[in-house]
Amino acid sequence: MELLDRALEIIRTYPLCDSCLGRLFAQMGYGLENFERGRAIKTLLHMKLVDEYRKGRDVLNDLLALAKIHKPTSRFLTSLGINVDEAACYICGGLLKDVEKYAKDVLPLLEGVEFRTFEVGTTVPKDVVERESEVVKRFLITSGESVKHEINRRIGKELLKHLTGKRVDKLRPNIVVRVDLITGKASVERNPLLIEGVYLKLSRRVSQAKKFGDVKSTLWDKLVYIREVFGGKEHVIHVSGREDSDARMLGTGRPLVVEVKQPIKYDGAIPPFRDGDIIFTPIGFTNREEVRRLKEKAKTDIKLYRALVLSERPLTVEELNKIGELSGKTIIQYTPRRIKRISPRKKRVRMVYELAWRQISPRVFELYVRCQGGLYVKEFIHGDGGRTTPSVSEILNTHLEVLELDVLSVE
Ligand SMILES: [Zn+2]
Repeated sequence: MELLDRALEIIRTYPLCDSCLGRLFAQMGYGLENFERGRAIKTLLHMKLVDEYRKGRDVLNDLLALAKIHKPTSRFLTSLGINVDEAACYICGGLLKDVEKYAKDVLPLLEGVEFRTFEVGTTVPKDVVERESEVVKRFLITSGESVKHEINRRIGKELLKHLTGKRVDKLRPNIVVRVDLITGKASVERNPLLIEGVYLKLSRRVSQAKKFGDVKSTLWDKLVYIREVFGGKEHVIHVSGREDSDARMLGTGRPLVVEVKQPIKYDGAIPPFRDGDIIFTPIGFTNREEVRRLKEKAKTDIKLYRALVLSERPLTVEELNKIGELSGKTIIQYTPRRIKRISPRKKRVRMVYELAWRQISPRVFELYVRCQGGLYVKEFIHGDGGRTTPSVSEILNTHLEVLELDVLSVE
């Protein structure tokens, strides 16, 4: 049998424990742990070699090699008056005997944390990995599992025995259990919890995250309660685009993700929020890829704005109607003066799809702008001293001031 010949070839060179021998043949069989596989191979080799020895064949050297790592063979040789000392496993040096014990150190660290998924990550001594790689290369093993994989899997399996209702998730675990086999220390990392929702902003004095000028509060402040609900240490908000602090966000609202760092809870109801300034409606839990998509989407979204505009001079209805010429135009904008950036003259090109307007008094009109996300709408209206072109101010040939700005919808 090829398997036994190969196994014999290996143990002639390297003494291996049950786990390390079995792991080299990990893809053979089904539902077996590596140590079971390794032990079975050793048992079969033992039967074969003892049988051959009794038939008078010269297999003593093979019996000596096997006896170093297999007690029954060692006892057989003792019965013949040959004593063989037990050898440490060439690959793991005995490390794999009871890696399950580390699970015991992890369990107290998980107390009080309400989570659903976890994964195990271990730091394995470099020389163990190197020796394994040496054996694998020398015998051209293609059916094995890596030592690191086995350790992670076994500690995970042991943890599952004590954690009811939890499962291993390698892609997006709530918890990462770290076991350092060099120092023998275990630790637990609590991954951030991401909560998706939509907000409306009814105030012109609320900014996204930073307080400045006459801003009285921030969206970030208002969402502190979510961090508290999930027992997090910190929270960060990820918003799909942004509106100015003095612009309201109305209509169907803007998507937002609250990232709660190091929470102690990964499940449960997410309460909505409402005061005179902000309405936050949670949608559910989300993941990092969604956050990325959300931010990316802000660049291609179509937005509808409403602005209340004051003109320096009275305008006739005919004059105002010139605004229509800007529908479907491409707008070129250099970074607005009000925004301080490292590269102050970065160029931005955005589309204005549709415009609608309504005169309120000779100097005041209401303007609706349907445009590509990322357009600096205030600058599109007042022209920003020629840094945005074409602009409403340019087409009407008057100085304009934006009195109010609202985002009506994000499509
Ligand atoms: Zn071993």
